Amino acid sequence: MDGTNKRVLLAEDNLVNQKLVALLLKQLGLEVDVVENGKQAIKAAQETVYAVILMDCQMPEMDGFEATRAIRKLELLRGSYSPIIAVTALAMVGDRARCISAGMDDYISKPIDRQMLKIKLNHWMQKDFVQNNQELSRKYALSMEEFAMQKELPINLAELEEFYEDDLADVLKTFVETTERLIVEIQTCITRREDQNLAHMAHELKGSSAAVGAKELAKLGLYLERAAGLKDWSDARETCNALENAFFSLKRFLADRSKDDSSHGEAILPGRD
Ligand code: MN
Repeated sequence: MDGTNKRVLLAEDNLVNQKLVALLLKQLGLEVDVVENGKQAIKAAQETVYAVILMDCQMPEMDGFEATRAIRKLELLRGSYSPIIAVTALAMVGDRARCISAGMDDYISKPIDRQMLKIKLNHWMQKDFVQNNQELSRKYALSMEEFAMQKELPINLAELEEFYEDDLADVLKTFVETTERLIVEIQTCITRREDQNLAHMAHELKGSSAAVGAKELAKLGLYLERAAGLKDWSDARETCNALENAFFSLKRFLADRSKDDSSHGEAILPGRD
């Protein structure tokens, strides 16, 4: 582990987890401060600039998301930045997005794997990496927040219909074909580890999805763009899987709808898949 600051904060309300993780951290040669809720975490972060903060998401009094938002605000004023690793029992992409939108940098799931914890700590205790992410985090946190709250239909057809009327089928056909192609290119970029191309494709996907109101896809595109910026390939792969699933549901949604609608006019989607 590099650097001079070896002090880490562990915010965790579960006593057993607290003991276990604190021990792991000490075994790694780190100094550990332990708090048991979000309010105490903010107070500790006010007093000390930590090398890393491990933040349980679910805590009484104040949860990890709210505490992270508050810590990011106070850091902005102070000009400091501590990487915050979310510790969560929820291992789903939606919750990862929630962690990122709150301003967390990374995420580790419970029960904490010793080796994984070591890898993440090593990673986040490198200064240049933290600096890079500080910029990315400020760039993406706000827009992530906008997207993270939305959970509705895969696409808002009513709104689109009003706007495009008879051209809607054509617009959607183009959108589906473009997205299909982009997803293939995204997969290739991930396999070849081409981060800049990936960021570009993810940006395209985010833009076209947002344009037709496919919010889940747009959110995942944004998330993927961020993963590309961080060269976080496991995150990119995971997000890409979520993207494929979301796109699959969207296509099914459109196909079902065009079946209902087939009495008047042409089907929205070509019959493939
Ligand atoms: Mn908890």
